[in-house]
Parts: sequence; C-alpha cells; structure tokens
Amino acid sequence: MKINIWWIRRDLRLFDNPSLAAAIANGDQIIPLYILDPSILNSTRIGEKRRAFLFAGLSQLYEEINIKGGKLIIRSGNPLEVFWKIKNELPTGDQITIYCEPDHSPYAQERDAIIQKQFPIHFVGDPAIISPGLILKKDGNPYTVFSHFKNAWYSSISLSGYQAIEKPAHINALLEFESESLPSYNKSIIAMPSGEIYALKQINRFFSKQELSIYKYKENRNILSIYGTSMISPYIRFGMLSARHIFSKAQMLMNQTLDENTKENIKSWMDELVWRDFYMHILHFYPLTSKENFRHKFIQWHNDLDDFAAWCDGKTGYPIIDAVMRQLVQTGWINNRSRMIVASFLTKNLLIDWRWGEKFFMQHLIDGDPAANIGNW
Ligand code: FAD
Repeated sequence: MKINIWWIRRDLRLFDNPSLAAAIANGDQIIPLYILDPSILNSTRIGEKRRAFLFAGLSQLYEEINIKGGKLIIRSGNPLEVFWKIKNELPTGDQITIYCEPDHSPYAQERDAIIQKQFPIHFVGDPAIISPGLILKKDGNPYTVFSHFKNAWYSSISLSGYQAIEKPAHINALLEFESESLPSYNKSIIAMPSGEIYALKQINRFFSKQELSIYKYKENRNILSIYGTSMISPYIRFGMLSARHIFSKAQMLMNQTLDENTKENIKSWMDELVWRDFYMHILHFYPLTSKENFRHKFIQWHNDLDDFAAWCDGKTGYPIIDAVMRQLVQTGWINNRSRMIVASFLTKNLLIDWRWGEKFFMQHLIDGDPAANIGNW
C-alpha cells in the first residue's frame, strides 16, 4: 500500500493546499499529521498567545478533516523519531512518502535536510507567493534591496486566472491509526478567532466594499485608532490562508476597477505581500540575519535594563509607545505603523539592541514569524 503522510507545518488549511492535493493524488491512503515538536513549542521565542492560536487552529482543522472522512493524527516529539515510529507501526511492505510545504526558516531547513536523508519527502507548494530562490539578479546573486526585488518580482508573476485548488471532496485516511489528544489551550487569551474558516471570513470581509477594506487601504493603514488593515497576519502565518490565492484575488479586484485611486489602494496592499516574500527570500539566503546585523553600520547600544523593562511594560512615559506596547502584550497583535514606531523608539531613542525587541515581539505576537519579524527589525 502507498501511504502518503501529509505533514502539516505552516499550512493549516484544506483550501488551495498543493501539498495536501499531491498527497491525496499520489497515494492509496494518507495520514494527515501534525507533530508537536518540543524544539519549537517549548522555545522561549513562542508565547502562550501564539501557541493557543495554533492549537485552536489545529482543533478546527481536526474537525474539518473529520468532515471529509479523514483523521488528523497528532504526535509529539522530534520529527525524525516520530517518522520512524510511524513507519514501525505500519505493516511491513507499506511504502511511506512524506508530502509537505517547504519551510524556509533556518531551524526547518536543518530539520528537513536530516529527514530527507532517511525518508522520501516531496516539497510541494510554498508559503511564499514566489518561492525563495526563483527571483535572482541577472548574475545569479540574491537581491538585497527591496525596490529591485519588487520590480523583478512583479515582472515574473502572472497569477491572473489563477485556479485555486478546491478543498478535497474526501480524505481517504487511516482511521484506525493512533493519535494523541489535541493539545489543550486557554481560549480566553486569543484576541482573534483561529482557523481556516475565520481566515476566509476575515479576508472576504476585507475584500468587500465596506469602509475598512482594501479599497481604502493606503489611506487607512497608518491610522492607529482604526482597524484599517486586513488583520490576516496570524492566519497567513500559519497557512490558514493561501498567499497565492489572496494575492490573485486582489489582482482580480484591481483589474476590475477603473478608478486610479482605488487601483492604488489595492496595489499598495498587494505590495505588502511582496514584502512578505522579500523577507522570506532574505532569511533563506542570509540565515545569519537571525543573529547578526544585516548591514554593517553599528549603533552603539546602551542596553539599559530599566529602559528595556519600561518599554516592555508600556511605562516609558511616552503615551503612544506605552499604548502600543500594552496593546501588544494584551492582544498579541498591533498594526504595522505601531510596530515601526515602537521598534524605532527602542533602537534609536533608547539605544537598545534590536535583538532584544525582536525576541520580545516573537514572544508576544500571534503572527510572530522569523522572516517577517527579523527582516522588519
Ligand atoms: P496588512 O497591512 O493588511 O498586509 C497584508 C499582509 O502582508 C500581512 O498580513 C502580512 O502577511 C504581509 N505584510 C504586511 N506588511 C509586511 C511587512 N512589513 N513585512 C512582511 N510582511 C508584511 N509580520 C508578521 O507577519 N510577523 C511578524 O512577526 C512581524 N513582525 C514585525 C516586526 C516589526 C518591527 C515590523 C515593523 C513589522 C512586522 N511585521 C510582521 C510586518 C507587519 O507589521 C505585519 O505583517 C502587519 O502589521 C500585519 O497586519 P495585517 O495582516 O493587517 O497586514
């Protein structure tokens, strides 16, 4: 029997999921698998809100897979050891192949390179719209300046007429295969409902012609007193939304509009998804940026512990900084302008090393993502 493991990592969705579709198309039965990896979940870089958002998303995915006739298998441990255990539990003679979306973070790259030596693994799809490595300078080197990357990116994208992959009609899974229980979490600490269903609702709301939508994005995005942005970052971070799908929908909205101002608003939102690709590209080619300065112009850090504590606690005495930091700690989400203001204040006014702020953000953001967070810091 050909058993394909759909290894779910950062693609917690059924809609427009190429690795799920490939796993179903190429096997007799599939095992939808999520591994609770202690190296990630017990890391000091993940806080309780992001963990709870992930677990709530898994719980919705569990239900959705059930509805399609399948069963989500949860296992804890080191991924390589989990795969060996699964192999040993299956009848000898069964062929196992792993299908998953690539993950470009340094930890994932190392982990996958080890697993790849011992198990057949197919990387299908990508969290980026254009996978890192496909947009390069003419001389084959990676871009390091966003505007140049963006121009090359737009000239190689053609998603108009993009056909998203429908949710599978049926998931032929090994129902008798054993799973651990879904991890428990505290619902009350998640400010946004988690899961693919809410993700799709949120993006559809943003694409509809109402006040705080893509049609006014450029005008609203920097106003701190309103929710003028899409607020999809936690969903896209965990792959509850397909980046290609939402980009192609925005492109379609832009093509349908004749008004230049509206076009500009939509285009400015699409550009943000290009920033997202850019930072994945940077982390892919320069993994050391997670620890070191990207450019070698150094600020002399003061690293005053009391100043840092005041920043973290929202007690600097600067109302805008304090309001933003309190929102971050209480809800786990702040908009881009707010992030820029407090990051700039920490590094350029308090002269505190960006890595301190970067780690604090990772511990508190629901959307905390190595590429976007490190890149923006
Ligand atoms: P929208 O403005 O509606 O944009 C749509 C999507 O585009 C976002 O959901 C996001 O996926 C992407 N995007 C938007 N702006 C950026 C950007 N500057 N860089 C990369 N992608 C972008 N984003 C994260 O997802 N995770 C992080 O850990 C993170 N850390 C950040 C740290 C700092 C210091 C700064 C300045 C920005 C950070 N961002 C991070 C980027 C950005 O602030 C958030 O993606 C955005 O605020 C999310 O809100 P939204 O979904 O309403 O975005």
